[in-house]
Amino acid sequence: MRRTLEGDDDEASGSTRGGAGPVQQAEGVLLPRYVRVNTLKTTVDDAVDYFKRDGFSYLGEANRLDDLDLKAKSFVRDLHLSDLLVFAPKTEFHEHFLYKAGHIILQDKASCLPAFLLNPPANSHVIDACAAPGNKTSHLAAIMKNKGRLFAFDLDAKRLSTMSTLLLRAGVRCHQLAHQDFLKVDPSDPQYKDVEYVLLDPSCSGSGMVCLGTDASPPDPEREQRRLGNLAAFQLRCLNHALGFPRLQRLVYSTCSVHTEENEKVVAAGLQQNPGFRLVHLLPVWPERGLQPLSQCLRASTTKTLTHGFFVALLERHSDAVSRAPPSLEEAAR
Ligand code: SAM
Repeated sequence: MRRTLEGDDDEASGSTRGGAGPVQQAEGVLLPRYVRVNTLKTTVDDAVDYFKRDGFSYLGEANRLDDLDLKAKSFVRDLHLSDLLVFAPKTEFHEHFLYKAGHIILQDKASCLPAFLLNPPANSHVIDACAAPGNKTSHLAAIMKNKGRLFAFDLDAKRLSTMSTLLLRAGVRCHQLAHQDFLKVDPSDPQYKDVEYVLLDPSCSGSGMVCLGTDASPPDPEREQRRLGNLAAFQLRCLNHALGFPRLQRLVYSTCSVHTEENEKVVAAGLQQNPGFRLVHLLPVWPERGLQPLSQCLRASTTKTLTHGFFVALLERHSDAVSRAPPSLEEAAR
């Protein structure tokens, strides 16, 4: 029986579940089982050996997306993310030793992109603005090799409590958890003076999540539009707030939404209001891009990337910031 779900990506969307809910078209889709190896506790090679001894058949590193179409008991190493193993859909790991010991994290591939792309070095100071239940926080800590300072904020006490358990199990030690509204965190507070990296994964509609369960009542388009508008306004406030940290160099913005209002439009508005930042062109080999003109960003979907629906943008500070006028949408996209 499946006993704990809360820390896994199936439950991590933080979506404000309401009418918009998950994407209807995604119902019935079976995604691969993605397993992130927690390099704070083990290595990818050791995890592969363990699974082989456990009766799984290792097919090596995937070369194409088609290689992720796996049959029961076989697995591969992912073609884009080196610490990710891929198994057949519905492969059950909740009772597995490696899961219980925190050596593996059950995390959708798209949701591994934000920490991977932010890539903060060891000893850096990092903020995870909307952090619970903490899969991306533990991924950041692994990339930082547990060295540096990782400030993690969330408003939801229950999700934070799940997060504490998850981080303990994952061996994360460089974090500082705060039950706090990120919008009220003071960027000029001396304790954040060395923060150069922010991961911003705010609450969203969750419209990219597959299998969240559906809303029985038909959506009311006007209500939906209002709700998306409110979410987008909150997301833009978070983005503007995060870009105000004085030494910030790089920021990843991500959502598990498929709506342009919560993705490209938020990022475009953030860039227009913060001319000192520009987009970084992400992973040229990734098969799905942000909607034009923001093709530097990544999108993910069940059909094109075999993941939940997702969006990621990476913003970096640029040096000629002060002397430049705010960019137009087209400039921001170049
Ligand atoms: N990054 C998380 C992960 O990978 O496990 C998932 C984050 S979830 C998409 C969004 C989170 O933002 C929710 O846990 C929600 O409680 C939190 N949140 C919403 N408003 C917030 C605010 N003003 N300040 C801090 N956290 C907030």
